[in-house]
Amino acid sequence: MSAEHTVESLTFKTEVQQLLHILSHSLYKEREIFLRELISNASDALHRLQFEMLTNREVHDPDAELAIHVDVDEEAKTLTISDSGIGMTHEELVENLGTIAHSGALAFLKTLEEGQRPDDIIGQFGVGFYAVFMVADEVRVTTRSYRPDAQAWTWTSRGDSAYTITPAEKETRGTVVEVQLKEDAAEFASPWRIKQIIKQHSDYVAFPIYVDDEVVNQQQALWQRSPSEITDEEYDDFYRQLTLDFEQPLLHLHIVADVPVDIHSILYVPRGTGHNVLAPKTDYGLKLYSRKVLIQEHNKDMLPEYLRFIEGVVDSADIPLNVARETVQSNRAVGHIKKALRGRIIKALKELGAEKPEDYAIFWESFGIFIKEGVTTDFGGRDDLLPLLRYKTSQSEGRWISLETYVGRMSEEQTALYYILGDSEAAVDSSPHLDAFRARGLEVLYMTDPLDALVIQSLREYQGKPFKNVDDPELELPPLEKPEESPEETTSDEALSELIVRFRNVLGDRVSQVRESQVLQDSPCRLVSAASGPENDMQRVRKWLERDYEVPVKILELNRRHPLIHNLAQLIARRPEDPLINPTIEQLFENLLLLDGLHPDPVRMVPRIQTLLTEAVSKAL
Ligand code: ADP
Ligand code: MG
Repeated sequence: MSAEHTVESLTFKTEVQQLLHILSHSLYKEREIFLRELISNASDALHRLQFEMLTNREVHDPDAELAIHVDVDEEAKTLTISDSGIGMTHEELVENLGTIAHSGALAFLKTLEEGQRPDDIIGQFGVGFYAVFMVADEVRVTTRSYRPDAQAWTWTSRGDSAYTITPAEKETRGTVVEVQLKEDAAEFASPWRIKQIIKQHSDYVAFPIYVDDEVVNQQQALWQRSPSEITDEEYDDFYRQLTLDFEQPLLHLHIVADVPVDIHSILYVPRGTGHNVLAPKTDYGLKLYSRKVLIQEHNKDMLPEYLRFIEGVVDSADIPLNVARETVQSNRAVGHIKKALRGRIIKALKELGAEKPEDYAIFWESFGIFIKEGVTTDFGGRDDLLPLLRYKTSQSEGRWISLETYVGRMSEEQTALYYILGDSEAAVDSSPHLDAFRARGLEVLYMTDPLDALVIQSLREYQGKPFKNVDDPELELPPLEKPEESPEETTSDEALSELIVRFRNVLGDRVSQVRESQVLQDSPCRLVSAASGPENDMQRVRKWLERDYEVPVKILELNRRHPLIHNLAQLIARRPEDPLINPTIEQLFENLLLLDGLHPDPVRMVPRIQTLLTEAVSKAL
């Protein structure tokens, strides 16, 4: 080269000038990401060199250790990042550090055009090499290409519109980036701080990173090792490092694949939603790596949203380094990875349900709600999720059972899956709606979670059999073989019609109709929906979602054989003015609202109950 001692002045491409202007004036709080960018470039350069060596190209300085060195001079406030990677020629310097080839930085600029504040979003993008100008007054890059006999060059810029390139003396292969820190970025001249940043952002970079001759990063990424060599304890330790959760995870999965896309992933199902109260979870998502370089701290594209309780890491060589958040989504590999991870998680949960029902119950009580969310949102994959659903039932004795178990216990004659919606297990367990089912030995699914009403909307049937609400007015149950009741025990037709009139008068338009029940056995009365099927379930969803929603009035059914109803009818016949009658009717009605989870304010009942008790006790004297 005859260009020695000449200083060549060049100007950045317009978009680089734009980017530099923003970066050097931004107030971004986490400026430390500049180091992640420089180290990932060094790591890329080393990977590319490795490739050149493996493909038998002749390289300069073949015995140099493949490593990254970070050195600081606290007094001079300089930081130096050196690598023994592929290096750059003059042409490459101009091309790589004078233009933006980089999609992350371009996407960043585009987002700014859409009106976002740069200070809020820098960290979401791999803004690349230029990020260094958030902390630098001046940057000097001295580089020598791996090609034998290459000339070394120094690139210098103060982050304004121009840079210079001059020939340099450099014996060793690779690149040295010298950063003259801004006054307000002096913190980055501290070895302690630098080590901390490397641990946090570049711990799994595959090459050693030396700070003061000490290797700072772990290098060996757990997910890149063979699952058969990893102990459960190592998986658990890694989980704790990752999540700061003190508890052991319920389940871990190690996924390794190379076709159709490269995937190395470790995923965890936590034991509960609690986590560490000292370090509460502020965001969810998987740590996304590409070839062990951290791209994103909370990636949300690799799993469907309803699986957001899953913790873990994904590394894929098919995701380009420093790709922007927006472009991660549209990357071809992402779809494959998402499908694979989702499938494996669901499979593992199914197995957990079959093999460790107790652990599965812990899972279900913490995260069942997410699975239900999935059933209502993942239209294409809904059927895969059905085996994960669990319900308590009128016959499960407090245990969670699957729909499969329920169907397995159905008799030949049973044509539908019966369910009851309500606010709590206790409430549905004592619901009058269950009378007819208990009498016939029919099992009823308890749906006491607010989301259940939505889930049932999207289910409608399972294995070809419909779901039926126990309060559906069109419900038909097989006839009950039971001896005729003796007539004295039951209310006469005349007394019953008097009673019905009285109920109507007292309750007014709070009920749409009062009639005799054909199904009640042990309960005095029940409320039946006037609407059938989805419309009925939807009322509950709306009550849950809309504060002021009033559930449409229902039909009140009376059991003429129940002693309370029978005696009340007799009391009306004998002493229609008795002060006990109206409060009793009111109370019976409100009990039903409560049992159905429809009572707007149960506390309101207390004064009336006290009045009734006072009467009852005084009569008992
Ligand atoms: P990206 O790394 O996403 O391509 P950057 O802005 O970080 O974008 O870097 C731009 C380019 O500069 C890189 O693609 C690479 O070709 C070159 N480069 C940066 N740092 C180094 C380095 N340490 N060694 C070799 N080439 C480098
Ligand atoms: Mg880069």
